[in-house]
Amino acid sequence: MKAVVLSIGSELTRGRTVDTNAAWLSHELARWGVEVRWHVTVPDAQDAICEAIRTACLQAELVVMTGGLGPTLDDLTRQALAATMGVPLECSAPHVERIRAFFAQRGRSMPETNTIQACFPVGSEPIDNPCGTAPGIRAVCGAATVFVLPGVPREMREMFAASVAPYVADRTGGAILLDTTLHCFGAGESDIAERIADLMARDRDPQVGTSAKQGVIHVRVYAGGATADEAQRAVEETAVEVRRRLGRLVYGCDEETLPSVVGRLLEARGKTMATAESCTGGLVAKLLTDVPGSSAYFLQGLITYANEAKTALLDVPVEMIRAHGAVSAPVAEAMAVGCQRASGADCALSVTGIAGPGGGSADKPVGLVCIGLADGSRVEVTEHRFGTYLDREDIRHRAALTALNLLRLRLLESP
Ligand code: AMP
Ligand code: MG
Repeated sequence: MKAVVLSIGSELTRGRTVDTNAAWLSHELARWGVEVRWHVTVPDAQDAICEAIRTACLQAELVVMTGGLGPTLDDLTRQALAATMGVPLECSAPHVERIRAFFAQRGRSMPETNTIQACFPVGSEPIDNPCGTAPGIRAVCGAATVFVLPGVPREMREMFAASVAPYVADRTGGAILLDTTLHCFGAGESDIAERIADLMARDRDPQVGTSAKQGVIHVRVYAGGATADEAQRAVEETAVEVRRRLGRLVYGCDEETLPSVVGRLLEARGKTMATAESCTGGLVAKLLTDVPGSSAYFLQGLITYANEAKTALLDVPVEMIRAHGAVSAPVAEAMAVGCQRASGADCALSVTGIAGPGGGSADKPVGLVCIGLADGSRVEVTEHRFGTYLDREDIRHRAALTALNLLRLRLLESP
């Protein structure tokens, strides 16, 4: 089954609201085995909406529309749908009463303008809205079935589940497409793609694809099946093979993040940690403490930005900074050791680097970052060159994730 997702709203075409409905609907439709061929976004203008509906109904058997069902003069979706179908709008007395009751429940009387929300193109069916005033509409337009849902995301989602999902399931026999995403850190996208090249063949089922974002490589596995169980099994089988090939490059899947995985590993081992950061300005600590329950393992984070602070709070020798510079492996090592000592944590991470845009030199370019990890038994320092093509924010983010990944790999070594 092929579908078009049609979003209506001038706030969308003006760029004031991001069209999250189209993304959510497309993901849901894909899950139900529907192929979305097109996203269309048009303003609250009747001619534009009519043209979009007409074109969409020629392209696909299923059209899912959101927005423009409000009671005000600029909400024209129902009028446009009726015009495209070549039928008038007809007011439904029971629906007027329902909207009146919705207001009454909240101790208000219904403004007359809301009556329009109880009007539907002749021959169409209303779709109940359990959380708002605007019912949706299901109609046949040419060879396509059209579902119109409200623009408010929460209402749209509920009504999709109650109307579009069962309609689709009926027609596709319950076939379903599921996906899982494995998150990797520590290698480039092409390197990872090379290791799983045969799994990524375009005609393979389940399908495997990669994407990169801020140094994290996502490997997505999609599989269809006659039932959810069958699809789940197929996804799992391929995901296991991807994990086998990529080993410790994979840090987690789906909702898991690098800081949440590090937190889980620390908690499982009963270990605590602390941070001493220079160029990341507390970002490592921020990412770690974004995770609920992080107080179980995260003790403290120091932002030692000035050289004097590195000396005063972490005991980094003045002569060492003078001899090697603040961005250097010896200083990163001394920061990690000093941080562990000062905090009493089981492990300590340190970050010092040049985030740019200024401050780089030939032998210490922008993007040079040194990361230290001390855990009592061993101190490790890694040096990275994130390159001048990243901006300040990206360099800082990449540095923070690299530090967390270093700790993750160390934790995996100990049972
Ligand atoms: P409407 O049904 O067009 O009156 O939309 C009501 C509200 O829902 C708007 O003010 C937006 O905040 C939100 N909304 C409408 N369409 C979308 C969309 N495609 N994506 C995300 N939010 C939307
Ligand atoms: Mg609108």
